[in-house]
Amino acid sequence: MKPARFAYHAPASVEEALALLARYGGDAKLLAGGQSLVPLLNFRLSRPAALIDLNQIAALAYVREDGGHVRLGAMTRQRTIEFSPVVRRRLPLLAEATTLVGHLPIRTRGTIGGSLAHADPSAEYPAVLTALDGQVVVRGPRGERMLTARELFQGYLTTTLAADELLVEVRLPVMPDGAGFAFEEQSRRHGDFAIVGSAAMVLGGRGGRCAAARVATAGAGAVPVRLRGAEEILERDGLSHAAVDAAASRAAELVDPPSDIHASAAYRRNLVRVLTARALRRAISTLSHSLSPAAGERAG
Ligand SMILES: Cc1cc2nc3c(=O)[nH]c(=O)nc-3n(C[C@H](O)[C@H](O)[C@H](O)COP(=O)(O)OP(=O)(O)OC[C@H]3O[C@@H](n4cnc5c(N)ncnc54)[C@H](O)[C@@H]3O)c2cc1C
Repeated sequence: MKPARFAYHAPASVEEALALLARYGGDAKLLAGGQSLVPLLNFRLSRPAALIDLNQIAALAYVREDGGHVRLGAMTRQRTIEFSPVVRRRLPLLAEATTLVGHLPIRTRGTIGGSLAHADPSAEYPAVLTALDGQVVVRGPRGERMLTARELFQGYLTTTLAADELLVEVRLPVMPDGAGFAFEEQSRRHGDFAIVGSAAMVLGGRGGRCAAARVATAGAGAVPVRLRGAEEILERDGLSHAAVDAAASRAAELVDPPSDIHASAAYRRNLVRVLTARALRRAISTLSHSLSPAAGERAG
């Protein structure tokens, strides 16, 4: 099927894009990589009066280390992120998650801003933003605002971005040196959206202690879920095998997954437990040697 008729604009600056959004008063769509939007247009599930193509705005594509943060322009391609030395060094969890996004042609076009604005609960980037306590920078006619993952994601494919706003940047705090990390997911076929995914980061301490833990899950609710109750178990009890099992069981209690054609709620809940344990064990195994759990308390 072909899309319904639309006007096409290719602004060269953010200001021009914002002026066009204001002109169409909510009846225009921003086009980033097109990997989610174009199928929606082709199926006529979306019928905007105009497309505002962001691909000519070179100023929206960058990866910059800035103090304690990495700043990624909204139009930075997933493939650029996958191979960015800054991301590999400072945000290895994001680098690993990127390899799980679709297939190579999708990552070549798809952008980080498009993925976050699309807000698919099974997508990897929303879970990474949640796990790493990142923020997005949003610009609109009322100025600029910063939103945490919790403030951005509202529901299934729904964000709190207004129709006249543009997501311009993603800001992620640099991961601490020596942090262990892993992104685990289950999908039917390689490259499919995950049924459930789990992002984990751990910071070790002396004698098997855990200085800090982060766990967030994808595909286990309408929005990505940060599992603070599971993190607290590790921060209190350390990184032993038993503590990881307890944290994973707690993770499964904390989510409220949906049933759909892909999986039942019970299956998803079980996946949260299994994948959280798997992600935590692998994260612990990648901790810097000097900080890894002491012999005898080593996690399995
Ligand atoms: C076969 C297939 C498999 C896929 N598998 C995965 C997967 O495993 N994991 C995964 O995460 N994704 C997957 N995707 C989706 C892919 O990652 C998309 O790139 C992503 O969801 C959307 O990014 P995009 O840049 O293509 O955005 P687009 O499709 O261009 O836009 C998506 C939505 O975001 C809005 N938007 C875009 N940019 C902005 C902005 N800067 N500010 C405000 N709104 C904006 C658009 O208006 C639109 O509503 C898959 C896609 C396909 C076709």
